[in-house]
Amino acid sequence: STFTSQEIIDQTQEYGAKNYHPLPIVISKAEGVWVEDPEGNRYMDMLSAYSAVNQGHRHPKIIQALQEQANRVTLTSRAFHNDQLGPWYEKICKITNKEMALPMNTGAEAVETAIKATRRWAYDVKKVPEDQAEIIACTGNFHGRTMTAVSLSSELEYKRGFGPMLPGIKIIPYGDAQALREAINENTAGFLLEPIQGEAGIVMPPEGFLKEAYEICQEENVLFIADEIQAGLGRSGKMFACDWEDVSPDMLILGKALGGGVFPISCVVANKDVLGVFNPGSHGSTFGGNPLACAVSVASLEVIEEEKLAERSLELGNYMMKELQSIDNPKIKEVRGKGLFIGVEMTEPARGYCEQLKEKGLLCKETHENVIRFAPPLVIEEQDLDWAITQIKDVLG
Ligand code: PLP
Repeated sequence: STFTSQEIIDQTQEYGAKNYHPLPIVISKAEGVWVEDPEGNRYMDMLSAYSAVNQGHRHPKIIQALQEQANRVTLTSRAFHNDQLGPWYEKICKITNKEMALPMNTGAEAVETAIKATRRWAYDVKKVPEDQAEIIACTGNFHGRTMTAVSLSSELEYKRGFGPMLPGIKIIPYGDAQALREAINENTAGFLLEPIQGEAGIVMPPEGFLKEAYEICQEENVLFIADEIQAGLGRSGKMFACDWEDVSPDMLILGKALGGGVFPISCVVANKDVLGVFNPGSHGSTFGGNPLACAVSVASLEVIEEEKLAERSLELGNYMMKELQSIDNPKIKEVRGKGLFIGVEMTEPARGYCEQLKEKGLLCKETHENVIRFAPPLVIEEQDLDWAITQIKDVLG
């Protein structure tokens, strides 16, 4: 890079919309769990781009798939078939044990897709009266930044100045099965939740909630929709966070690590009785299902399977959790999580701690003011994790 970190930060300050508040670090190179700034300083990535790089930065197998596909064909649009989409469909359906998939690009778009499918299912299959369908979502949710996603949100800062919001949404307290029961009526189409809430600060529902909520949805003919964009694909120590309670959602929303941090791809998977509601003309995306994304995604999924990243996350996560829980500091309110998806909640804002960790060579980001999120790429080596834990103990101990 011909620019220094400070010059790049200044350009960003000058010309960029102020919709983010990044730590003052510029990344110009990355490999595995390590990233480097233009001055050559090395840091360990403890965020993994919000779990999009579970496979590690620039995983060689994924980069190879990208390069080989880039040399053949990158975009056809869905006006024609492309030779990478079929194999990708089969792969994602086998991994999720579902019958049908619909590819999009970003997480928020996949959430949009899930909501559209749910509403149409309500009218066409459940026979809810026109325009009366309701979706139930949870307090503290994060489903993205589009109008639908912010309409689902209970966070005023995500919604302020963006009204009017999408109607037909009810919010219940996260993890409250009784509230779910009470919120359901004959027009309820679906219940949307994150099996672990990432952006809320690694918040887990009470044990048994996923199973109970799923059973309630079954009884009431309501779709159980799991947004596993952040918690899925190995992050929580299982392939999907719903696996923790042996729940197979009616609809599964995936993104982030689905493209290995190399190329954006997201999707919705479900059985034919649900995703079958789409017909030509009802939904789509110019880039959705493009051959470059599909080739990268198949390789990204193969890496998760071949390198047993879910098992790795579970084992290393249990170890890291114990180490973090052993830190004696009255300012630590709670250490929680599953697998290498760990939140440390402080009794005061976490930003200062993240800045100190950065000085120690560890890149973390505060989430929801008081929580430090630790989510390294799942390919992390034990000795690298030990080094990270030592730095964390120095800062938090
Ligand atoms: N859903 C969940 C659970 C997420 O964590 C995120 C991103 O953080 C999204 C949806 C939105 O994904 P994207 O930023 O790709 O639109």
